[in-house]
Amino acid sequence: MAGQVPHRVGDVVTVVGADDPAGSAADDADRSRVRADGSSRPDMSGGPDQDRRWLRAAIELSRLSPPSPTHYAVGAIVVDEYGEALASGYTGETDPHHHAEEAALTKLAGRDDLDLSRATVYTSMEPCTVRRSRPVPCTSLLLAAGITRVVLALREPLLFADCDGVQTLRTGGVDVVEIGDLGHLVVEINAHVLGPPDDPWDSRWK
Ligand SMILES: [Zn+2]
Repeated sequence: MAGQVPHRVGDVVTVVGADDPAGSAADDADRSRVRADGSSRPDMSGGPDQDRRWLRAAIELSRLSPPSPTHYAVGAIVVDEYGEALASGYTGETDPHHHAEEAALTKLAGRDDLDLSRATVYTSMEPCTVRRSRPVPCTSLLLAAGITRVVLALREPLLFADCDGVQTLRTGGVDVVEIGDLGHLVVEINAHVLGPPDDPWDSRWK
């Protein structure tokens, strides 16, 4: 698509005020998104419009997840360095215990022709580090697959487990980008476990 700038995995442009590849289309929210380290510097590594579009697509995908009182509805999409989707998945897609990232990565198993170190995983919620239904959490699956860039909207609330996926991935060398202003959509979709989105922030959140 015109205007798209395929990103190179691992690039992190930190120059404040760097030219926006999409022109003036990016809104203030793009420029102020908070990175995993808490800073609010712009990160153009994936192109802000491209990142927002794919993350929104992952969030929309999560709506397909069968509502369950025992898990969140999460969507995940693996996108290559040229901006093409390689695989997608959502919670409970083919197995009630399948997490979104797991569902997507499973579809790429055996694809030795792919270099996932150049791909980005867009996921509506922070990948898990603790899970009761499987021995291997999604952060481990992502690291094992060689993923080096993850974009997410909402850190996992404390409802089911205390996960630190963002920190674990960063420690593993993954560039983690949080687009927190889309997190409210994830909260709304997960009202079946989190309650009404307008509930005051409480101990569910960290
Ligand atoms: Zn998971």
